[in-house]
Amino acid sequence: MVGVSLRARTYSRSRRFVTLTHCPFCGYKFDCDESRPDHLADHDPEDAGLNPLGEIDDDHDTPLFEEVSTRVE
Ligand SMILES: [Zn+2]
Repeated sequence: MVGVSLRARTYSRSRRFVTLTHCPFCGYKFDCDESRPDHLADHDPEDAGLNPLGEIDDDHDTPLFEEVSTRVE
């Protein structure tokens, strides 16, 4: 399970900013002005519980839900 730490601040004119305080994959604590996307881009998909790049499960195209029938009147 991936945990997310966010900080929300409300500034003048009710502008609200939400900041990621810790990396959800490794728990690294960000400095206040550090680029979150740069750090997150250094992680691999496996860090988020996904398959490695280029590896596709055999059942990747299996429907997530059963087909739903609709009534036509
Ligand atoms: Zn990280």
